[in-house]
Amino acid sequence: MNQVDDKLLPILDEVLRRNAGEAEFHQAVREVLESLGRVVAKHPHYLDHALIERICEPERQIIFRIPWVDDQGQVRMNRGFRVQFNSALGPYKGGMRFHPSVNVGIIKFLGFEQTFKNALSGMPIGGGKGGSDFDPKGRSDAEIMRFCQSFMTEMFRHLGEYTDVPAGDIGVGGREIGFLFGQYKRLTNRYEAGVLTGKALAYGGSRARTEATGYGNTYFVQSMLGTRGTDFDGKKVVVSGSGNVAIYTIEKVQSFGGKVIACSDSSGYVVDENGIDLALLKEIKNVRRERMSHYAKRRGDGAHFIASDKGSVWDVPCDVAMPSATQNELSGKDARKLIENGVMAVGEGANMPSTPEAVRAFQEAGVLFAPGKAANAGGVATSALEMQQNASRDSWTFAQTEARLAAIMRDIHDTCHDTAEEYGAPGNYVLGANIAGFVRVAEAMRMLGVI
Ligand code: GLU
Repeated sequence: MNQVDDKLLPILDEVLRRNAGEAEFHQAVREVLESLGRVVAKHPHYLDHALIERICEPERQIIFRIPWVDDQGQVRMNRGFRVQFNSALGPYKGGMRFHPSVNVGIIKFLGFEQTFKNALSGMPIGGGKGGSDFDPKGRSDAEIMRFCQSFMTEMFRHLGEYTDVPAGDIGVGGREIGFLFGQYKRLTNRYEAGVLTGKALAYGGSRARTEATGYGNTYFVQSMLGTRGTDFDGKKVVVSGSGNVAIYTIEKVQSFGGKVIACSDSSGYVVDENGIDLALLKEIKNVRRERMSHYAKRRGDGAHFIASDKGSVWDVPCDVAMPSATQNELSGKDARKLIENGVMAVGEGANMPSTPEAVRAFQEAGVLFAPGKAANAGGVATSALEMQQNASRDSWTFAQTEARLAAIMRDIHDTCHDTAEEYGAPGNYVLGANIAGFVRVAEAMRMLGVI
């Protein structure tokens, strides 16, 4: 199982050759091609017109220099990226990541995943991703602003509400989107609200966008648990990370009656048997911007901190695991530990957080497994709702927006579930997501001709 079909192997070989050294991109493409064997067996016409080859090749890749001046007056230099992967379904859409690990292979993997995720969301958006190897850690607000302004000074010419609509990702939140939008507006002399999403409410943002990725993943897992006649109520949950996705996952799981007993950052993780105190976590992460160990110190009894070199958050026994930090954070070893401890469901809030070995282990053990491109699509889906509000110069209530998000997540769940069944692999959400996403993009591309 999980092999690339002979007919698709030459396509994979060519991707590996053309994109040498881009391990994460290879991993993402291989996983999708593994799923497509069943599609081309049933519908061989998808092998025609180099359709799959074209889907694996970004439409455009932009790499540029970002000079900026730090608070000491020193000139610094970073590299910027925007990979415009696929626009068959709508303008390129996807976040920007500011993190020292960013390189073209990482942005390409994210853009590739985004294309299928956005297709699954059912919204009219293509796939793209961008970012920089800039490290925001320890930088002042003024430095962040100058960096964002320099980034946008090159990026603006490639964007537009009908062309490419970026948003946030790791290291890019409301503050950064504000600086980026300000510079875009100044350079273009246009109040083009729909050119960026994840904006604050004060200048055209959508209610529930901040919460959407974490809430959406929780809705997805709730639907998945429903297929086994259960729900979050009374379940022990471990959420990795402590950024935007993790925080709003914890919030929604708690509102569904689940008990989140651990979360993490790159320094380590906390176990809090009484349930994570979300108000305290929000204060530490969003206001004070402190490390995880401060949570345990301030929380006192019942909570303890374990440094990342002493163990993994996945050692904590739980019923549901929701990896919400970053790619490949959950290894095969971590998966085996979770299985041994009786995990019944995994919902990926981050993009590709489980390694291929981990995914295989979960599937072989019969654990309900929701891949990120389906489970975390609520973020980008709500971005599309933000674009809709901008286009109609409207602003919806929180309840209205969340209701749309919940319906979209239910629909994505059912699509993945039913597609897996249709292709003879019931319960395999990875297969269901890859096939359903692919078919939507492929059908549009077929109609648009050779472009
Ligand atoms: N970065 C998020 C993602 O991975 C959101 C993208 C967006 O809203 O455009 O889907």
